[in-house]
Amino acid sequence: MVTGAAAHELPKLPWADDALAPHISPRTIGFHYGKHHAGYVRKLNAALEGTDAAGLPLEKLIALGAEGGDYAKYFNNAAQIWNHTFYWNSMRPGGGGAPSGRMADLIGASFGGWDEFRAAFAKAAGGQFGSGWAWLVAEGDKLAITATGNAGTPIAHGGKPLLTCDVWEHAYYLDYQNARGDYTGAFLDHLINWEFAEANLG
Ligand code: MN
Repeated sequence: MVTGAAAHELPKLPWADDALAPHISPRTIGFHYGKHHAGYVRKLNAALEGTDAAGLPLEKLIALGAEGGDYAKYFNNAAQIWNHTFYWNSMRPGGGGAPSGRMADLIGASFGGWDEFRAAFAKAAGGQFGSGWAWLVAEGDKLAITATGNAGTPIAHGGKPLLTCDVWEHAYYLDYQNARGDYTGAFLDHLINWEFAEANLG
């Protein structure tokens, strides 16, 4: 029994709630961050209270939860907390479009160029059936695009994500209704935080 273990916290957003408008509205951010992300934190803390798992780092809970067994019940909320924090940091006002420098070199070497990367990421995001996430990940000295369902996350299996786009309907429905492609297009052209992606290369 871990007593007095620190509860998981909802990280602050890296920008003001209207900073991504008109591509993502403050109303969407209000629900997505203030209700959904906050809800995952609240539910995880409630599930952990008074258990041996309280006090474990989020990344450890995700890895153990992905293995199944006693920790599986924590996986969805723990992974959703991590994924959302990563998603907020994957975006910035005035972002998106083709990267420069090291990321441009890697995009070129891995996909052929920005246009090819853009088409492949949009296809992965659009092709994820139901709720999930589209990711740019590092694999060796190349980059790759992947998608996960529900709370799935590359870090559960030792992956190295550089950025992510949330394709759950709650990420875009208020602004784009069913037009997921318009939302992922805005993410690609106007929101990607390439400096964050590059920093995650290590
Ligand atoms: Mn979400």
